[in-house]
Amino acid sequence: ILSLEQVSKSFGETSVLHPISFDLQRGERICILGPSGCGKSTLLQMVAGLTQASSGSLFIDGQPVEQGSHYVPPEKRPINMVFQDYALWPHMTVRQNMAYGLKRQKVSKQELDARLERLQKLLRLEGLLDRRPSELSGGQQQRVGIARALATEPSILLMDEPLSNLDIKLRTDMRNELASLLGQLSIATLYVTHDMMEAFAIADRILVLRDGAIDQLAKPNELFERPASPWVAQLMGYHN
Ligand code: ATP
Ligand code: MG
Repeated sequence: ILSLEQVSKSFGETSVLHPISFDLQRGERICILGPSGCGKSTLLQMVAGLTQASSGSLFIDGQPVEQGSHYVPPEKRPINMVFQDYALWPHMTVRQNMAYGLKRQKVSKQELDARLERLQKLLRLEGLLDRRPSELSGGQQQRVGIARALATEPSILLMDEPLSNLDIKLRTDMRNELASLLGQLSIATLYVTHDMMEAFAIADRILVLRDGAIDQLAKPNELFERPASPWVAQLMGYHN
């Protein structure tokens, strides 16, 4: 559903992503795992269209969204994103936050209510719809962030370290919850994390990114059994 062909990104003289190519299949979940500063967020932002690639092409459903001077802006891409800091509107209620992205889609009132009803069940937000974000716990806020992203029914979901602001106990609970939710939804997902446990719980395949290049892209067990580089081996806990 998503194809990157030799996509790269530089800021001025600094190359942040070297030419990268990979495909995300329909319904597949790829976790992008790598140390701080390796270019994970930059990669997601390029897929979302929030920043332009320096070279290379991006395709969604076989259609170019970025190729040469052709560039489809974020709001026209069938993509939605969940951020590390939730990025909820503080002055809006949970319901208004969830409905926000739908305004542009011009769905009927009936359809809107039906979607919000489904999502509040799915993400266990019953009874919270009239509260503001400041009246919610971190875990609840992140569930609202996820509900908001799902409300527009995107073809591709991007998640940038969605659990990293939560305390350790909540993070473990949410990790399992999210793994099961994403499994049910079978929506194509790119999920950024530097937490190995999270990647193993959620991913169909794991993309190990280091210094702006792909070290390995493989199923979790392959990564463990046949690490492609000393770095991946170290990540998997092998010591030499
Ligand atoms: P983290 O795990 O800390 O979130 P990351 O893998 O998401 O890290 P990025 O945010 O993609 O890393 O940043 C990759 C590199 O690009 C960093 O060295 C960062 O300083 C640099 N960078 C990111 N955005 C810009 C920008 N707008 N201008 C210049 N450099 C940038
Ligand atoms: Mg980041």
